[in-house]
Amino acid sequence: MSDRIVTEVVIVGAGPAGLFQVFELGLLGMKCHIIDSLKQPGGQCTELYPDKPIYDIPALPVCGAQELIDRLLQQIKPFGAEFHLGEEAIELTTEASGRHRLLTSAGTVFDAGAVVIAGGVGSFQPRRLSLEQAPAHEGSQIHYRVKSAADFHGRKLVIFGGGDSALDWTLELAPKADSIALVHRRADFRAAPASVARMRELVAAGRLRVVEGLAHELHSVAGELKGVHVKSASGELELLDAEHLLVFFGLAPKLGPIGEWGLEIDKRAIKVDTEHFQSNIPGVFAIGDINTYPGKKKLILSAFHEAALAAFAVQHHLYPAKKQFLQYTTTSPAMQKRLGVATA
Ligand SMILES: Cc1cc2nc3c(=O)[nH]c(=O)nc-3n(C[C@H](O)[C@H](O)[C@H](O)COP(=O)(O)OP(=O)(O)OC[C@H]3O[C@@H](n4cnc5c(N)ncnc54)[C@H](O)[C@@H]3O)c2cc1C
Repeated sequence: MSDRIVTEVVIVGAGPAGLFQVFELGLLGMKCHIIDSLKQPGGQCTELYPDKPIYDIPALPVCGAQELIDRLLQQIKPFGAEFHLGEEAIELTTEASGRHRLLTSAGTVFDAGAVVIAGGVGSFQPRRLSLEQAPAHEGSQIHYRVKSAADFHGRKLVIFGGGDSALDWTLELAPKADSIALVHRRADFRAAPASVARMRELVAAGRLRVVEGLAHELHSVAGELKGVHVKSASGELELLDAEHLLVFFGLAPKLGPIGEWGLEIDKRAIKVDTEHFQSNIPGVFAIGDINTYPGKKKLILSAFHEAALAAFAVQHHLYPAKKQFLQYTTTSPAMQKRLGVATA
């Protein structure tokens, strides 16, 4: 387990809300760390609709969703927030001192004066194989991500899915696996056309099998996975030999651990007040899609407004004696210095 990281603020979630929170805290002179369970920042924008245009960001008549994230990352650069990607925030406790201890799935421990939860619709988790015996083999013979491709060389593999991840790994592993079958529920594949074409070539060359159907039941002997029964649309069962199953059914958001932190929750969202965006736990704030209050609208625009007000509330929580006043970036030398644009 790594050492404790002492910081003013930890932000949970690197979607548009969390990223803009870095900016608003930075303008007020506060440093933060930001965590996301995904491997890249951007939340829903990057994970669900990177190529789609957004039309309701003020002053940007049209902006691609990934472009918005790239612009936010550029905007927050001067504040040097430290990113902890691929780590899920799993535990949050408040100590007698009022400071917060936050633990991530990678074992990182934060000791923070304030926590801003910008967890959106929750952390994205791989959709799992919904077979009764599957959990017993997860991590050993059933995998939802590939940590080391070499682990699968020379092995009997069955890959599930019809999207880019399923096809990419099928193409990568086909020349190296002992045998490989790609199982998809229908004949059409969502993956990039070039990958689908290459996959069909490998099938024609007899290097790969494609099976249309659904996982029906695991076949295990003495606790070891030996294969999987796949059921076709007409109800026929076929047993495919397998030492490993690689499952790529995409990612789905789950409120997950946030629901167990003692926060007041209403319909899977954290209740906050609209002056400070603070939860029922003093020093724990919530912005963006994850919060709720009368009139809440789950829009990026709303998240940006909430981040601005939450930054003032965080500052007051950390430094109650500090006098607060509104400054403009246009004219404030202090803010311009923090932004790295001061001329004098
Ligand atoms: C198809 C589509 C189109 C949309 N179009 C628009 C539009 O045109 N205009 C608009 O304003 N809005 C639009 N939205 C909504 C907009 O994307 C959301 O309002 C916005 O993404 C919310 O930002 P957020 O940062 O609050 O949450 P998210 O974008 O959901 O990001 C939250 C992040 O928190 C992380 N997280 C959650 N829990 C944890 C945890 N325990 N540990 C670590 N990380 C965690 C998640 O992995 C995620 O990356 C659209 C949404 C969709 C799906």
